[in-house]
Amino acid sequence: MRRIAFLNGRFLKWEDALIHAEDRANNFGDGIYEVVVAYHGKPFYAKEHIDRLFYSASQIELHIPYSPDEIMDIIDRAIREANAEDENSMIYFQISRGFAPRDHAFPENAEPTFYLTVKPFSPMPMEERRRGVKTVTYPDIRWARCDIKSLNLLPNVMAREYARRRGALESLFVKDGVKITEASSSNFFAFVDGKLWTHPLSNEILAGITRSIVLKLAEKLGIEVVERPILLSMLEDIEEAFITSTTKEIIPVSQIDDMKIPVGERTLSLIEEYQRLKEAP
Ligand code: PMP
Repeated sequence: MRRIAFLNGRFLKWEDALIHAEDRANNFGDGIYEVVVAYHGKPFYAKEHIDRLFYSASQIELHIPYSPDEIMDIIDRAIREANAEDENSMIYFQISRGFAPRDHAFPENAEPTFYLTVKPFSPMPMEERRRGVKTVTYPDIRWARCDIKSLNLLPNVMAREYARRRGALESLFVKDGVKITEASSSNFFAFVDGKLWTHPLSNEILAGITRSIVLKLAEKLGIEVVERPILLSMLEDIEEAFITSTTKEIIPVSQIDDMKIPVGERTLSLIEEYQRLKEAP
C-alpha cells in the first residue's frame, strides 16, 4: 500500500498534505480527531467513530463540512487510493476550526480544515499480547471535558512519555489521588471479585468505541459488568486487567507500577471474541 492523505476535498501524496501555520489546530489545538482501523480493507465500527466525531464537534460548536455518509465515503475512497483493500490500515482524520489570524475567539470567516491519512497498521501479535504489558500510574491532570476527542493532548503526551521512560506501554490516569479514570490513549478495565469493572461514561473519560464493544462481548460471555471507578484502594484485589483502544484492541495488563497481575482466561476469552468480530464478514 502507499501512504496517502485527503486534505480539504482532494487526495494528495502524504508528503504534500500541508496545512497553514496559522491553522487553529496549530495555534490552539482547536479541533477534534478520530482513528479508525480497517481490517483487510474493511473499516471496523466506522459509523460509531463518525458519530463520536459529530458529538465532539457539537460540543465545541464546530461545523463539519461533510455529512456522516460523506465521511464514510471518503474513508472508503481513501482505502482504495492507498491500495489498502487487502491490508490492515489505520485511518486518522481531524478537523480544525480552520486558519485565521491568531485570536482566541472563533474566527468569522474561516473554513474548517479537514484532513485524513491512511497508513499501514499491524495489530500487536497474539504471542506478545498474551504476555501482557506493564502500566504505570500518573496523575490525571487533564481538563474537565475528556469526553471530547480534542486535539489538545498535552497531558496524554506527558503521561505516555512518563510510561515509555519506565518501560511501560501506558500510564493509567489517577484522578484526585483516588481512582483510575482511563489510560493515556486507552480505556482501562479490571476484574475484581469476579466482575468486570470500568469507569462509567462521563466527562472524565473518552467513550471508547472498543470499550463499548467489550461491554457487549462481556454480556455475551455472561460476565457481569460494573461501570464504577476502580479505586486505588482496590488495586490489590485486581484479578485480571486490560486496556482497550481501536489500535491496541484488547491488551492484558500484567503490571501496574510494581504490582504484578496474571494474564487470565477471562481477558483471553474477550480477546478471542474480539478476534472473531474482526474476522466477521
Ligand atoms: N481514552 C483515550 C484518552 C483515548 O485517547 C483513546 C483512543 N482514542 C481511548 C480511550 C480508546 O478509544 P477507542 O476505543 O475509541 O479507540
